[in-house]
Amino acid sequence: MPASYDLIVIGGGHNGLVTAAYAARAGLKVLVLERREILGGACTTEELWPGFKVSTAAYVNSLLRPEIIRDLELKRHGFVMLPRNPSSFTPFPDGRYLLLGPDKEQTHREVSKFSARDAEALPQYEAMLERVASFLEPTLIQTPPTPWSLAPGNLVRLAKLGLGFARLGKDAVRAVEVLTGAARPILDRWFESEQLKVTLATDAIIGAFASPSMPGTAYVLFHHVMGECDGARGVWGYVRGGMGGVSNAIAAAAREKGAEIRTGAPVARVLTREGAAYGVALADGTEFLAPRIASGVDAHVTFLQLVDPTELPGDFVADVRAIDYASASLKINLALSAVPNFSALPGAQPGPQHRGTIHLCPTLDYIEEAYDDAKHGRAARNPIVEATIPSVLDDTVAPKGMHVMSMFTQYFPYDVREGSVDYWKERYADRCIEIMDEYAPGFKQSVVHRQVLSPRDLEARFGLTGGNIMQGAMSLSSLSFMRPVAGYADYRTPIRGLYLCGAATHPGGGVMGACGYNAAREILRDAGKRLPTVA
Ligand SMILES: Cc1cc2nc3c(=O)[nH]c(=O)nc-3n(C[C@H](O)[C@H](O)[C@H](O)COP(=O)(O)OP(=O)(O)OC[C@H]3O[C@@H](n4cnc5c(N)ncnc54)[C@H](O)[C@@H]3O)c2cc1C
Repeated sequence: MPASYDLIVIGGGHNGLVTAAYAARAGLKVLVLERREILGGACTTEELWPGFKVSTAAYVNSLLRPEIIRDLELKRHGFVMLPRNPSSFTPFPDGRYLLLGPDKEQTHREVSKFSARDAEALPQYEAMLERVASFLEPTLIQTPPTPWSLAPGNLVRLAKLGLGFARLGKDAVRAVEVLTGAARPILDRWFESEQLKVTLATDAIIGAFASPSMPGTAYVLFHHVMGECDGARGVWGYVRGGMGGVSNAIAAAAREKGAEIRTGAPVARVLTREGAAYGVALADGTEFLAPRIASGVDAHVTFLQLVDPTELPGDFVADVRAIDYASASLKINLALSAVPNFSALPGAQPGPQHRGTIHLCPTLDYIEEAYDDAKHGRAARNPIVEATIPSVLDDTVAPKGMHVMSMFTQYFPYDVREGSVDYWKERYADRCIEIMDEYAPGFKQSVVHRQVLSPRDLEARFGLTGGNIMQGAMSLSSLSFMRPVAGYADYRTPIRGLYLCGAATHPGGGVMGACGYNAAREILRDAGKRLPTVA
């Protein structure tokens, strides 16, 4: 007889683990099945080379919901944040640089080097974003209401949302712009110095196959200011031991409450009978039974590979096929023998220029040109590079005196028009390293190992369709009640007992845990239980 459970979670990404941990706390018998030998999905640490522990996908944290850290006692389970101050360093070709961070006086001084007006405007801009955040942030851990449903519970949720919007007053205009608009005109309106604008603009394109002048990028920009690091708003930090520290702590919390977690266990099929899920079958044919299945895998894989699409309504399948998985993000992971010695701010030992995100991107037009290359099916000739060196603050991730560097880069398309992806991804990685070398001569010689993950590699390694880092684009038409597709934003699916719990659902990508949290609430509600929160 196949083993049976109350809930089976497909995928041991951090969201699936959050769902598993809450369900186990509520008393359900839970099984997690992860395809890879390692947990965490895109939020993981892998020892790629002996002694070098690499956050192979996600590399910084801020978004992880404080409710989850508290409820699951993640600190007791080993989760440690390492705040970064300064949080960013942008060197420019003319030898100047900009350091930004939580130290408001330092930031004011730094921005004043380029524009006194911008130094005054920056805190007001941040205050505006905070006011918009005060409206949007509570919605992250709520199930989105359906605009066309007259069910009483739904009407209450719609009314609450409307009330929150009304409370914004004139800031409502800003909120609409942030939700729908392009980042560039907003930045142009607030600031005059290219140096500040471009440093902020790179956040608007992370993971998006779009340039900052395209609608939708303002939300990506905003998404990046919504988190906190140990209570400090908008601050991003490293996780001790790499990003796997998040997933491992959640897994420990789940195991403590009895959840069983298996790795090296790829699910091949969701078993269904008369429109309801009753279990899963692994690739080797092993079956496990449960009346509830939660998939942390993206919607494309779940509905077009794990489920027989003929079991689903035709219009639902069409909507899933229409999800935008375009991506042009390429990740380079490096082992280094030394930190880069920047001409703009020299130092062969770790200093403030090495602690935060190093932005290599001189102007907004540079981003537009890089995007244009990818739009035409070419690797960007001059990529945008966001580099981080967590080993500067975390002595557990590299051998003494050595470092790990993560380069999040754009734009490298999924398909190239001429030649092979494998050929171009290596040339593109060469160019990224060369760009760093232009700002920090000698950098090239310090590279000991490298791993290059194109969108195709991200798809193969992490199961992310199209290599889209968010399990689907984060544009307005794919958010809230339209995520993953309109009519199914409440974590339920057309198959009874089958739920989604990963970044494919509201509120989307990022190491937030909110998708898993919201899904757990709905699963437990259907099981006649409440989400076991501490407060
Ligand atoms: C390169 C990159 C950089 C990023 N940088 C950041 C960052 O710095 N900060 C941030 O907050 N976010 C970042 N993100 C986004 C963030 O990592 C993801 O949105 C988030 O980790 C998604 O978590 P998840 O649990 O929803 O899904 P996933 O992490 O995608 O987990 C899904 C899991 O399902 C497993 N799986 C797939 N198919 C099967 C199957 N058939 N059977 C069993 N298991 C299966 C996968 O192996 C995976 O473990 C980044 C993402 C990428 C790819």
